[in-house]
Amino acid sequence: MADTIFSKIINREIPADIVYEDELCLAFRDVNPQAPVHILLIPKKPIARIIDANEEDQALLGHLCLAANKIAVQEGIEDAFRLVVNNGEGVGQSVFHLHLHILAGRSFTWPPG
Ligand code: AMP
Repeated sequence: MADTIFSKIINREIPADIVYEDELCLAFRDVNPQAPVHILLIPKKPIARIIDANEEDQALLGHLCLAANKIAVQEGIEDAFRLVVNNGEGVGQSVFHLHLHILAGRSFTWPPG
């Protein structure tokens, strides 16, 4: 997988407002927030899109969901937050390193736009 801006954040080559880190993942505030709380949670393993994850990533994907929960509690948004994964350019993915958007702090419509 080609290096992305998110690999540079993992490697501390460019700055980010990091809110959570463990051995498998990293979370930082989105530079262009779409809600009062907008955090990106990424695996340290470079997986381009969620469709590119495979059986060996099963535990990692579960780990990401539990890390999102920890971050939600840390941010005080555990009662109302949205997780979004864009898979592919057609739905707006612009950085090809898997990331979960954690969004909260305003009202959200359903279905999503
Ligand atoms: P997506 O469109 O789902 O690929 O989301 C990529 C997200 O990364 C967008 O919400 C961008 O605002 C965000 N982003 C891009 N570069 C950075 C950066 N250097 N630091 C923090 N967020 C970034």
